[in-house]
Amino acid sequence: MKYIYLTLLLFISQLVVAQRCETIVTVGAGSIINYGTESANGHSRDTIKDEVIIVPVVVHILYNNSTQNISDEQVNSQINILNADYRRLNSDTSNTPNVFKKVAADSRIVFCLAKVDPDGYKTTGIVRKYTKEPLFLADDQMKYSNKGGDNAWDATKYLNIWVCNLFGRTLGYAQMPGGNLLTDGVVIKYNTFGNIGAVSAPYNKGRTATHEIGHWLGLKHTWGDTDCGDDGIYDTPPQKAANTGCANFPHISSCSINEYGDMFMNFMDLSDDQCMNLFTIGQKQEMRGLFAKGNSKNSFLDNDLCDGSNAQAGPVYGGDGNKPDIQIYPNPIQNQFTIYSAKPNLLSGKIAKIYTITGKLILMETLKTQTNQIDLKIVSKGLYFLRIEGGDKPYIFKLIKTQ
Ligand SMILES: [Zn+2]
Repeated sequence: MKYIYLTLLLFISQLVVAQRCETIVTVGAGSIINYGTESANGHSRDTIKDEVIIVPVVVHILYNNSTQNISDEQVNSQINILNADYRRLNSDTSNTPNVFKKVAADSRIVFCLAKVDPDGYKTTGIVRKYTKEPLFLADDQMKYSNKGGDNAWDATKYLNIWVCNLFGRTLGYAQMPGGNLLTDGVVIKYNTFGNIGAVSAPYNKGRTATHEIGHWLGLKHTWGDTDCGDDGIYDTPPQKAANTGCANFPHISSCSINEYGDMFMNFMDLSDDQCMNLFTIGQKQEMRGLFAKGNSKNSFLDNDLCDGSNAQAGPVYGGDGNKPDIQIYPNPIQNQFTIYSAKPNLLSGKIAKIYTITGKLILMETLKTQTNQIDLKIVSKGLYFLRIEGGDKPYIFKLIKTQ
């Protein structure tokens, strides 16, 4: 009896999770979209019409065995797929039926692995971490270091992607805009991420991430998650329910408004990877709207975290390379930064001078302890040099002021 019960329970649990995407589509506080005006003013600016929006990405790889510790190449293959799909440069655009080609869009959103970490140091944008957890449920545990996962990087500047082993047939899930920043991002099962390495058909073309990031950018499922529901997008036709596998065009349901039926090849349906190939103009507008002034992803504009020359790689001169005597953080800087040395007496009595790029001295301060906080609130944004003098040789650092 116990065995039958257990079998039944397993069967039911498989049925419950037999769903490609576990995203719960809720409307968060920050998802009220203000389309704003297209101008630049003050500290934050608005989006500029047709500008390419760059989203820095950090991939947190949580592995319990070597197969789950996917390669850099597999990660890169996923970034390339995102950049194809979001710019309609994917090789399968020809599979979009002609009637839907008219509304297919290049969203002009691109993704790059971060080159600068939250402390201003150089990074590959890939964090690898062994976990004792053989699998995770879709309950956000993978987003916390103290629960076997890895803490999010600042979600106002980075798209966090957690790649791990998800339970059952769950391939991924996302957090819709406006939620908790500590859990903001998407989670993708390791064997559906990218199109090389540890991937398995029919989810082996990287479209799980394309779909989940669509949710992260505010898009709902094309059937609106209810019978003949609405996704709020004007150019995706109503459809009765999710499509799985590979439907044949046209796929008509009782909710179809014309003979073209479902847009089952939309990235926000649940078709197999090889059978999805477009976002629409309406979806593009919805996604880009989040970056407008006053909206939840506006802070992504101009953050330059994919430009490695903005990273601090230790002192330019005067240190010992990999383990700098002096650390400067955060860098890039918003209002203030810290000068720190692990050596107790190194900084005490030394003089910190900040110069503009043309050599004009704008700030001078005598350092007193191991940890010194320097206020740069009144300094305008741009590139500066910090010289720490008073030893045999000066220590020189490049500083980036971002606001
Ligand atoms: Zn979904």
